Amino acid sequence: MGKDRPIPGTGQPLSQGGAVTNEENLALQLWRTLEPDRDAWSEHVRERLAELGAEAHLSRFDGNAAEWGDSPWTHHGSPVAGMVQELAGQVKNGMAALGAEPARLSTVYVTTTLQHDVSAQLQPFPDGSGLVTIADSVFGLISPLARHAAAALDRLNSRPAPARIARSYWAAARGSLAEDPDLLFALLRYYTVNQRVFGLAANLVRPLTTRAENIALLISHFAFQFVIGHEIAHHVLAHGSAPGGAQPSGGHLPVCSEDQRRELEADLLAHRAVLAEARAGGSVAHPSVLALLGAFVAMVAIHLSERGLFLRYGFTHPTAASRAERLYGEADPQARLVTRLFTNALLPAVESAATFAPGATVFDADRYAGSPLIDTPQPSQYLHTIAGCDRLLCRPPGFLMTKLGEVADVTGLPALRAGVAAIDSGDTGGALRSWGVRPDVTAGLLDAAQPLTFHTVLEEIRKGLLRQGLPAEHGRLSAIVAAKLVEFNIADPRQ
Ligand SMILES: [Zn+2]
Repeated sequence: MGKDRPIPGTGQPLSQGGAVTNEENLALQLWRTLEPDRDAWSEHVRERLAELGAEAHLSRFDGNAAEWGDSPWTHHGSPVAGMVQELAGQVKNGMAALGAEPARLSTVYVTTTLQHDVSAQLQPFPDGSGLVTIADSVFGLISPLARHAAAALDRLNSRPAPARIARSYWAAARGSLAEDPDLLFALLRYYTVNQRVFGLAANLVRPLTTRAENIALLISHFAFQFVIGHEIAHHVLAHGSAPGGAQPSGGHLPVCSEDQRRELEADLLAHRAVLAEARAGGSVAHPSVLALLGAFVAMVAIHLSERGLFLRYGFTHPTAASRAERLYGEADPQARLVTRLFTNALLPAVESAATFAPGATVFDADRYAGSPLIDTPQPSQYLHTIAGCDRLLCRPPGFLMTKLGEVADVTGLPALRAGVAAIDSGDTGGALRSWGVRPDVTAGLLDAAQPLTFHTVLEEIRKGLLRQGLPAEHGRLSAIVAAKLVEFNIADPRQ
């Protein structure tokens, strides 16, 4: 069985992971080599879930994998890959309808990555082709945001017309729909802590009515299209080189940059293309409201991913608030009104969920363990584990140094204290090497030109400490504390 993947909108049979021919453009050649190793990733996820004792989650994970293996779409490699190719084709159709050059549209390709060292970016090549890369974690964040928006829309629409009008009026007067911002914060925080500590895309799910579920699916669909469309738009608009000169080596060439005008242009083209495609399909009611909400949800997911998960160089897009504000000028009044209500309600919760600093609000396991507000296969104990990790992520350096000293006393491992001393004197590289991180890996972690997530640092330290002889039961806690100390030492130069 081959891996040919016809990409909608290009008419080209494509296969990722297959042979490369010299006639192909550079983006396509790279695209073929980039099929994420999802088998290895599945094994990583299974190990983490087993480590956490998350039995229910593990069996559901295995069930999903078996179901996918039996499906007729396995030639796409994975459900995510299939969805992304389908959506990319739809967005390209929308752009073609707006007059984009078909030849230009046919030289951009979209792939996803399990490496969380990028949120979404376009990599341009000298021959004019382009490769879009989107992290799975961005898709994972869209779901809770879309469900939150859907719950509010559903409640608004479930009232008789006079009550609906009154509710809209009061919501507009207050500047927000009265959805529970604490619940949204908890859902987003749970996701970001899981990503930072375990590298897992774990969501607590808020139960919805069937109608709200359908609205959430539509908003997610538009949000996915917008994320992909924004990066394709950079290619169509020939934003082919990063402004500002210096470009990081190693294949990372984020076009998304501080160049606000280009970002706005890409947002506008993506939004228009998504809307054009929805209107052409004709099957969705209120496409202008849903497409604008989807765009907003997508911007917020990127924003939270970059602010919440990255230590360095993840900030490839302007803030969601500033992007949204400029996109609203484009929207019809009804769509603008509805989306603005969400903006006001959502953004404070999103900012809180991305903030891991001393004194920040942390995940409240006591409130949500066993609560009907959320649905999760996880035992209460797991929620408390996440809360404990979160508290640790929000401690000041002095507390963390003391904590690591205590582990050194219990385990008799002097390397822990040597690393703390190095951190204290500002020698981050010395600290990482003391904790067993290999010199070449240390150099990579400290390379200011490379993007870096918190989880990458944590995993390298955890593996290093285990190599130094730290007993496994102390590995996770020590790695969180040590990675947090590294975070304090390497501030993003753009911040
Ligand atoms: Zn961009």
